[in-house]
Amino acid sequence: NLRQACCHPQISAGWRLFKPYGEESLTMTEVLDALVKKAALDLEESLRLVGVAMNAKAGLFLIETPPRPDMAVESYERLLDLSKQIGSVVRLDTLQYAHILQGLIDGLFFKIQGSISAAEVAHLRSRRDQLLGDLRTAKESYCAEGVAKLEDAKERFSTAEAAVNEAQNLIPQRWWADALHRLSAVKSAQLMKKIMDDSKELESTTGIKSVFSDCADLHDVEVILTTKIGLRQSRRLELLATMRSLPGWNEPTAEEIQKSGACSKCRFRTNVGNQECDHCNNEGLVLEYEQALFAVRQRQQLKRKRGGEIDPTLQNGRWNVHMEGQGGVNLFSEIDKVLKLLLQAEKRHQFTNPQVLNSATYFRDKLVEEFHAVHELYAAQKQYLGTLDEFQMALTRFSLRDATEIVSETEKNYRLLAEEVPASHSHWDTSLRISMEDLQRKRGQLRYLQSLQGNHCARSSSCNAPSGERCVLCFHDITLTAVFPCGHFFCSECVVHMCSRSASKGNAIQTVLCPVCRNRAAVSEITGVVDVDNRSEPALLKNKLSGDYGSKIQAITAHIIHLREKDPSSKVLVFSQWTEMLRIVAKSFSVNGISHVLVTGKPGIHDAVAQFRREPSIAALLISLRVGSNGLNLTEATHIILVEPILNPALEAQAVGRVNRLGQSRPTFVYRFLVSGTIEERLHALAEQRESTESSRKTGIEKITVNDIGGIFNETGSSCNGS
Ligand SMILES: [Zn+2]
Ligand SMILES: [Zn+2]
Ligand SMILES: [Zn+2]
Repeated sequence: NLRQACCHPQISAGWRLFKPYGEESLTMTEVLDALVKKAALDLEESLRLVGVAMNAKAGLFLIETPPRPDMAVESYERLLDLSKQIGSVVRLDTLQYAHILQGLIDGLFFKIQGSISAAEVAHLRSRRDQLLGDLRTAKESYCAEGVAKLEDAKERFSTAEAAVNEAQNLIPQRWWADALHRLSAVKSAQLMKKIMDDSKELESTTGIKSVFSDCADLHDVEVILTTKIGLRQSRRLELLATMRSLPGWNEPTAEEIQKSGACSKCRFRTNVGNQECDHCNNEGLVLEYEQALFAVRQRQQLKRKRGGEIDPTLQNGRWNVHMEGQGGVNLFSEIDKVLKLLLQAEKRHQFTNPQVLNSATYFRDKLVEEFHAVHELYAAQKQYLGTLDEFQMALTRFSLRDATEIVSETEKNYRLLAEEVPASHSHWDTSLRISMEDLQRKRGQLRYLQSLQGNHCARSSSCNAPSGERCVLCFHDITLTAVFPCGHFFCSECVVHMCSRSASKGNAIQTVLCPVCRNRAAVSEITGVVDVDNRSEPALLKNKLSGDYGSKIQAITAHIIHLREKDPSSKVLVFSQWTEMLRIVAKSFSVNGISHVLVTGKPGIHDAVAQFRREPSIAALLISLRVGSNGLNLTEATHIILVEPILNPALEAQAVGRVNRLGQSRPTFVYRFLVSGTIEERLHALAEQRESTESSRKTGIEKITVNDIGGIFNETGSSCNGS
């Protein structure tokens, strides 16, 4: 199938998934790499499903009456072993791994309780301690990123807070009161007018009542400023203290983690109560302080301004805060705007030390930085709690519930009634069997592809004949390989021998054991792989070619090299129905030093043909069957290569006619390239059959009956296998 994938341009388009668009074709090695990657992903998913089923089985053993801890421990241990075996290729998901460890720890606890011999207890205890250590390590590695982020946020928070306190010490207490006194002596009316204008503008654009709207003079302004700034400071202190009390500042307790996981506002579990987590509970504090620090407008106001209907769901919606870089002057709250006004006026009149002016601005900058740090810390704490909750949830096993207990739909999946246990057992038995079979198959696929990959590397680097894989059973070189579903392969002679021995036992479904891994395989699942090299003289060349674009293209390339070696003046026409295919052939020609011209469309065809006829160094003309127009006379060429079977005899006759016509003095050779054991063989048979019927010859119409198509696909399943 791998080889077929490379031979068919339509299929090769699918490989773009693995490569950026625009790179036309892949070599066999690249296709193989992509397949190995995909097989590894498949195996990982398969292992996960096996893990789910085995964990479920073990969990059920523990809640049965009476519990069967022996069975549970065995099931968990088997899964651990399995994941270790596969571990070199794919890893078990960390959360699933943690679940196994926790289950094992619980299972061992049961066993210790039921144990009588002191030696056994000691043994079980030491195993349990070891597992507890593993579980701790797993948790640490799972949470490592969250912890690092949180520590980072905490540090930035503390630094920002210290910077604010430091900046606060630089400015004189209540400096705005002094400034107002000085300014009222010189510019009282002007300043008051400016403040009131701004206040009115705010009210008219947003509909929010301005804090200064009732001020009669600068004294009133001073009172408002003092009150609001004091309020802001107390809100700030409250917020900072709260941040230090929220879970996450210190290591969260089990209750806090549970509370966070069950939050009705920020977690997405169904059917939980209406209890909110500590963070959601205190979100109001953050918002309030945000409003005191920045200019805010309610969403509904913005909506109204745009002239649309007011969305009722937004009436109590979040405040729309203008953060930095957004909305320019709106960044400043009303209070800050007035403070800025005062600073500017002071500066103009040179009333105060410019250092005071600078430190006031600096102070506000630090407040903004501190607020961002608070935000970051808030998010990091919440995220860390989420990670811990996730880890905790992963440890949850099956448990029993009373019929009277009220549980959510989700909980019903792991909180079982006692009478549900047997049904659940058989459900997971089936699931385990299916997923286990799938896992074996996926392992085999990956193993086989990897061995192919190893082979391929060896072959292309040494440029010699294939190293000759040896059969591990008879130590002879393998000519015909038989591949088991587990991915192990042997020479066909040995496998035939094994099969005939099993047949003599007279089983209904003939099966054999893989001699390496002892996995049972049905005889029908064993596939034969033929190495098609070493058949003819040009085929020998194939091992010397560079760039592996699939067997057929290799064969074509080798064939042309062979023809040119025999007769350096020979010229070849290469026909295909697909320009994409021709491009791949051209690529292979290029890397192997065959000079050629490629014609993919009508424009440029005459120049290309002229070049092909004129220059003796050009060996091949690659031309699409659909383009090759009637008028062309190409008697210079004596060889024609048809890249794939052509169903329309008239079209093929036309192609051959380019060369074999009046004026052609030399014999003409036509080569058809078919991949044996694929659909191409049957297409060719159909074409030959059609050619013999007179009518299609005359009309040249591509009429294919349903029967024809049926015939093509009839044997696809059996004969395409592994060729
Ligand atoms: Zn919440
Ligand atoms: Zn053998
Ligand atoms: Zn095997």
